[in-house]
Amino acid sequence: MSSSHVLVLNCGSSSLKFAIIDIHSGSEALSGLAECLAEQQPLIKYKYDGKKQTITLNPGDAHQIAITRLVELVKQLNLDKHLIAVGHRVVHGGEHFTHSVSITPEVIEAIKQTSALAPLHNPANLLGIEAAQKAFASLPQVAVFDTAFHQTMEPKAFLYALPYSLYKEHGIRRYGFHGTSHYYVSAQAHNILGLNKDNSRIISAHLGNGCSVTAIKNGQSVDTSMGLTPLEGLMMGTRSGDIDPGIFAFLVNQLKYSPTQVDLLLNKQSGLLGISELSNDCRTIEEAAAQGHEQAQLALDIFCYRLAKQIAAFVVPLGGLDALIFTGGIGENSDAIRDKVISQLGFLGLTLDQDKNLTARFGQSGVITTNDSPCAIVIPTNEEWVIATDAATIAQEQ
Ligand code: ADP
Repeated sequence: MSSSHVLVLNCGSSSLKFAIIDIHSGSEALSGLAECLAEQQPLIKYKYDGKKQTITLNPGDAHQIAITRLVELVKQLNLDKHLIAVGHRVVHGGEHFTHSVSITPEVIEAIKQTSALAPLHNPANLLGIEAAQKAFASLPQVAVFDTAFHQTMEPKAFLYALPYSLYKEHGIRRYGFHGTSHYYVSAQAHNILGLNKDNSRIISAHLGNGCSVTAIKNGQSVDTSMGLTPLEGLMMGTRSGDIDPGIFAFLVNQLKYSPTQVDLLLNKQSGLLGISELSNDCRTIEEAAAQGHEQAQLALDIFCYRLAKQIAAFVVPLGGLDALIFTGGIGENSDAIRDKVISQLGFLGLTLDQDKNLTARFGQSGVITTNDSPCAIVIPTNEEWVIATDAATIAQEQ
């Protein structure tokens, strides 16, 4: 095994995803997930040498325990000797970061300052950074931001029509998320479809538990559906996406919700779950809809209608469409959702090839439209790969 591996850490609010990636081959020497970190029985599930294994953790300061145990595992498997860098996913980089950076005390300070905008995510990301710095003191540490790709948006796209002082004094603006994924799949689309990066119009739909659409012109994000937080835009698994902001005042004044309860309602009880009153999981909703569950059918109708409307709206900043990308768990696997969305976009010339649509799934890239249609394509995302290659590049520059 050569020294060409990067440890990728995605330290979230209740889980820690990790992978050790060979930046030459793209293969994963180790991958896994520490989950249920806020609960009684935290676990680390990992895959090494083709075998899946589980480590049971003690409850308590679960993030710290999970990271310590992960470091022990990496050392026990002798993988630490092959590491050249650690790459950290950081959710919110505010306006500080337009690309990935080597982590310095100033970078840590800027991530801390941005924590008010992502109170669940940035503090957890910082825990991962601090633990990895202690465990791998000699390795370069690199931060890769979900928001960085969207820093190319112009003020007309990122400003809300609120008093300007809220932007100047408190940074209230649209930042956008899933940037690493939108960047990766759009770069893949340029390669696969032979598009000229300096003259291309791409719309990327990342549809997972969180969902967002980005308009990408000549390789740069010009508009995106998520905003100050990952709540804005599309309907998602448990998130409402766009609603009339007046609903907030109605819930508080008329129904006596507290602001915290409104936040919970919009983030955790809405979306596919809220409408179906069944599940936030797209597979479960699709199965129930097929068996005649009316609210599941309605949830899918709303999801696809809003997605189609958002895609059509993003043809405006692009002035046309060369490629529409579907990615994320839903985008990569649900032929039914892709069908329902594209069938509403026929006025753009998009025509689905039914056979190609049915076969594009399970990690395969593939064009799903007919030869005479603008292109729609399924591209599996790989955020870990972007984090690993950015970390390796920055490490090599040091
Ligand atoms: P995350 O945003 O947490 O990374 P994923 O990208 O893994 O999530 O996407 C999870 C979503 O993908 C879930 O709603 C899940 O039901 C959906 N999904 C996964 N496989 C399929 C499938 N075969 N058909 C429909 N939906 C699927």
